[in-house]
Amino acid sequence: FWADVKQGPPDPILGVQESFNKDSSKHKVNLGVGAYRDENGKPYVLDSILKAEDILHEQRKDKEYLPITGAGEFCKLASELAYGKDSKPLKEGRVAVAQSISGTGALRIATGFLSMFYSGPKTILLPDPTWGNHIPVAEQVGIKVVRYRYFDKKTVGLDFEGMKADIEKAEPGSIVLLHACAQNPTGIDPTQEQWKELSEVVKKKKHLALFDMAYQGFASGDIIRDAFAVRYFVEQGHQIILCQSFAKNLGIYGERAGTFSMICSSTEEKDRVLSQVKRVIRPLYSSPPLHGAQLVATILGTPALYEQWLGEVKKMADRIIAMREKLYNLLVELKTPGDWGHIKSQIGMFSFTGLTPEQVAELAESAHIYMTKDGRISMAGLNDGNIQYFAESMSKVVKG
Ligand code: PMP
Repeated sequence: FWADVKQGPPDPILGVQESFNKDSSKHKVNLGVGAYRDENGKPYVLDSILKAEDILHEQRKDKEYLPITGAGEFCKLASELAYGKDSKPLKEGRVAVAQSISGTGALRIATGFLSMFYSGPKTILLPDPTWGNHIPVAEQVGIKVVRYRYFDKKTVGLDFEGMKADIEKAEPGSIVLLHACAQNPTGIDPTQEQWKELSEVVKKKKHLALFDMAYQGFASGDIIRDAFAVRYFVEQGHQIILCQSFAKNLGIYGERAGTFSMICSSTEEKDRVLSQVKRVIRPLYSSPPLHGAQLVATILGTPALYEQWLGEVKKMADRIIAMREKLYNLLVELKTPGDWGHIKSQIGMFSFTGLTPEQVAELAESAHIYMTKDGRISMAGLNDGNIQYFAESMSKVVKG
């Protein structure tokens, strides 16, 4: 049956993990996968999550199926976290929300719905570069991918004028995907003033804004500040689509908890939209998983746990920020040629180092240090035990 099926390419991110696993050196460092690691380089389970697990264990809940759109209380609390409790569309009951299989699942519901119901151009504008999975999630349902400029190689910063111009020149009514905060892979976000300008352009062109929010709280340590772009667009009347992930900010990667939501113009429209969202979800996986959503709802719905969680998100964000500072200082101390200010100014889980694919390959070969080919490193993979080794190895390959 399958004689004509060709070998597929390895996943660019998960492939890094495979190479790391195969390396037997005791110095090896994995900066590929975007999962938080503690100061000892170990996966980190938040204490608030452990407490929520205990509460759930005590409750001895049943394991019945959730509805197609997931757990109602979870969806409500998750939307309040993203949009704010005072959000007008939330208060007016015109946000269509469905629990999703983390952020990826939310994106897939979004593209599935858009491919079936969007009457504008079935074209999605993605930043260049973006998280690699955005492309197949759109293309697999027949949505055409167009790129907008984002990263300026010369300044290792945002090409804001290019970004604005590309969004402006796109066909009116296009779908524009925006990273809500902590852009992956660059770690570079528009400023609040720039977001305001983008809102104007998107409005003028009648584009549909689709926000991908995978790092709320992770960027600055402040969940309100990280929600600025989403909340600002909503305040400005944009009927956005939002894909929300709890993988990073709650450290529950494998639990697959997230939401898909859409701002509608009335409750009646919301009901119609949600009835069709169900028709997108049903043939994909029928209904979402239970446990992650219960954990999230327990934390967001229990004031003491919620407070504790805010502290824990901040602690993760602060450790990453401290590693940025340290790496920058080490590179400067080691007289590494180039300007490394971007290591400190970039935001969130990743740093886009500017290392070339050749330098990345050399680091793997000679120093057992692994990262994606584009020179992106997961800052969370660095700690006091390996940062000196990493900085020295990086400095050495840059010096050539
Ligand atoms: N969007 C972006 C920008 C991401 O970086 C990620 C995770 N790497 C996701 C979405 C989705 O992640 P998940 O499905 O694990 O929530």
